[in-house]
Amino acid sequence: MAWLGVDVGGTQVKTAMVASSGQILNKRSFDTPPASGVEQLCACLNEALRQHLAATGLREANVAGAGVGIPGFLDVDRGVVVEAVNLGWRDVPLVAELERVLGLPVAIENDANLAALGEAWTGAGRGTYSVLCVTVGTGVGGGIVIGGRLYRGVNGMAGEIGHLVVNRDGLPCNCGKRGCLETVASASAIVRAARDMQAQGRLAAGVAIEGAREVFELAAAGHEAARAIVNEAGHWLGYGLALCADTLNPDAIVVAGGVSKAREAWLRPVRDAFAAYALPRTRAAARLTLAALANDAGVIGAARLIAQQLGAAE
Ligand SMILES: [Zn+2]
Repeated sequence: MAWLGVDVGGTQVKTAMVASSGQILNKRSFDTPPASGVEQLCACLNEALRQHLAATGLREANVAGAGVGIPGFLDVDRGVVVEAVNLGWRDVPLVAELERVLGLPVAIENDANLAALGEAWTGAGRGTYSVLCVTVGTGVGGGIVIGGRLYRGVNGMAGEIGHLVVNRDGLPCNCGKRGCLETVASASAIVRAARDMQAQGRLAAGVAIEGAREVFELAAAGHEAARAIVNEAGHWLGYGLALCADTLNPDAIVVAGGVSKAREAWLRPVRDAFAAYALPRTRAAARLTLAALANDAGVIGAARLIAQQLGAAE
């Protein structure tokens, strides 16, 4: 038996055929269809499914269902994408439409939640009981897995660590609040801080800051101002993780997303702040590591989700 895992992003859609062991049998990706293109997305996913079948030699009857990760707020009970700003979607009945096109049972879930489920199943949280996974990219997303299952909260908002307010006088956040963790610890926050420093003439004037990567490179090359920006963002992430860990007392904390590619240089200030703010027994129990599945966590988590919903996972 195998499952189709789908990770819909703002620019790319990743798909994978995933075996019951969690192993990826075949993976593909295509550009995200333009806004309002839900029919187009479903057609592209149907085409991807056919290509996966051809590549793996599986028959349709071997594929039990599809899980789909969406960057946005969802009503999973009704199978509706309530709002996905990056996709330009509002109140889209994705599950009904995709089940009709694929002829398979479909489950949807927030993408950060599925990254957490994937990492808990076969990634950095494998073998642990409770996993807090935080994904740091343009924003800061999070997911909680307890006993192998997603903890969603009463309406899917559990693990929204990016919107913990860490500074009540801070910058406006996309969610409408001010001073959220996302405004100080995301890749966007790092880029904004670096551009501010450049404008003040305090950071490498000739370097075009396209993303957090350039800031990490400047920090690695010994630029003090860049290092201070990285340390500040990492500090806030570690602080946010300590608040969550003191609430959840997890045995694994996994840091995922684009920013985690900077690896140890990024993780050091995160660990230092985590150690400073978490209770000693909480800290001692929690293993804080980088994600292990990179870009595959979402599709693996999506496959796990549909397997669990169909009662096909232990
Ligand atoms: Zn917010």
